[in-house]
Amino acid sequence: MPEAQTGFIRGPHAPLSIERAEGAYLYTTDGRKVLDAGAGAIVVNIGQGRAEVADVTRDAVARLNYIIPPWTSPERARLEQRLKNWTPGNLKRFCFASGGSESVELALKFALLYQRVKGRPSKKKIIGRRTSYHGNTLAALSVGYTPRRLDYQEVLFDWPKIGPSYCYRCEWGKTYPGCDIDCASALEAEIKRQGPDTVAAFICEPMIGGAAAVVPPVREYWPRLREICSKYEVLLIDDEVMTGFGRTGRKFAVEHWNVVPDILVGGKGLTGGYMPMGMIAVAENLVEEVEHAGKEFMFYTYSAHTAACAVADKVLEIIERERLVERAAEVGARLGAHLKEELSGHPLVGDIRGTGMFWGIELVRDKKTRAPHPPDKRVTGHAVAAALHQGIFVYPAIAGMAGAAGGDGFLICPPFIIGDREIELIVRGLRGALDDVQARL
Ligand code: PLP
Repeated sequence: MPEAQTGFIRGPHAPLSIERAEGAYLYTTDGRKVLDAGAGAIVVNIGQGRAEVADVTRDAVARLNYIIPPWTSPERARLEQRLKNWTPGNLKRFCFASGGSESVELALKFALLYQRVKGRPSKKKIIGRRTSYHGNTLAALSVGYTPRRLDYQEVLFDWPKIGPSYCYRCEWGKTYPGCDIDCASALEAEIKRQGPDTVAAFICEPMIGGAAAVVPPVREYWPRLREICSKYEVLLIDDEVMTGFGRTGRKFAVEHWNVVPDILVGGKGLTGGYMPMGMIAVAENLVEEVEHAGKEFMFYTYSAHTAACAVADKVLEIIERERLVERAAEVGARLGAHLKEELSGHPLVGDIRGTGMFWGIELVRDKKTRAPHPPDKRVTGHAVAAALHQGIFVYPAIAGMAGAAGGDGFLICPPFIIGDREIELIVRGLRGALDDVQARL
């Protein structure tokens, strides 16, 4: 496989030059067709090339190019109205940004502001998890996992971390269901260790994405997190940038456990890649308290951009009309079953896990001991390159660099519109790719 340079990133697969895309397929400038089983960076949930989204974008830009974020327009009003039917519980107040990281910043800042307004200014720490990704800005890096933080460590917020719910590599050395859900109790222990009067919020992906090749938690985990956060007046921030808007077969992943967080973060699937946009949905009563205190929440220049609002509204309408959340659950179950049936026995495959259209494969050196490959083997990079060689794009996970816990892996998260033919192509392509990688190790 040739070494190649893409921007700042050097990897074992040549960067593709893409001319156009349609549905779940990418077409390269040199005439190849690639099945996009990563939906880009887990973004293109409704597939590419939707003419009606293009029409809405053109009309929105032509009619009203820009207004300042505190004002409103028909596009903004429509999107907010529609979002109210999507978000759980009382998460009915929205704030918009241009992507996931900016939205995580909004969530963290709202939590800090809220605690001040409540007369608890010493609550300033945000607890995160060692294995999770929340974005690439400095505060988002501060609450995320180690490999991305390393080069910036000295300037980041020194906030506490706990281990995740990750049964394949349980930090407590236990086996579910015979455990005491120590992964959830770890939050309470950390809040007590730090001092409850110092902790503003806890941020968590409902299911780990790129930081460990998809890890759904045990079912007791989120309800316990909710209880603990409420007990200590710590806001629960649910980062659904990757899992939101149907990816896991529910509108939002927390609905698998009937939990309502205080703040929910969204991005990616909100506009399906047709426009850069992210958002937070915040519990109505919390926003009211901040408003009554006369506090304002500063906007970004492009918050709630009118064309982005129009696109998000159209994308969500398409998901509703075509019942794509239900489709993600149904077709995704078949995808997961096939992956497990055909690939579980492969010597490289440690674990296959996921739900809906959200699947990951963790690659190991030794199936029995679960020992990962040494990082210098760059197994993830070679697996992604080998899959591309088979005409399949899967999204790399860098769990192997997270330290003792984790291994190499990748995400299989296609657009929700795929069918049985694509499932067949993905599974067959991955088998060929894994055989190739195994042969070169
Ligand atoms: N949060 C989660 C859970 C993510 O997966 C990501 C990106 O992958 C982000 C936040 C950051 O989003 P963005 O890359 O749009 O800034």
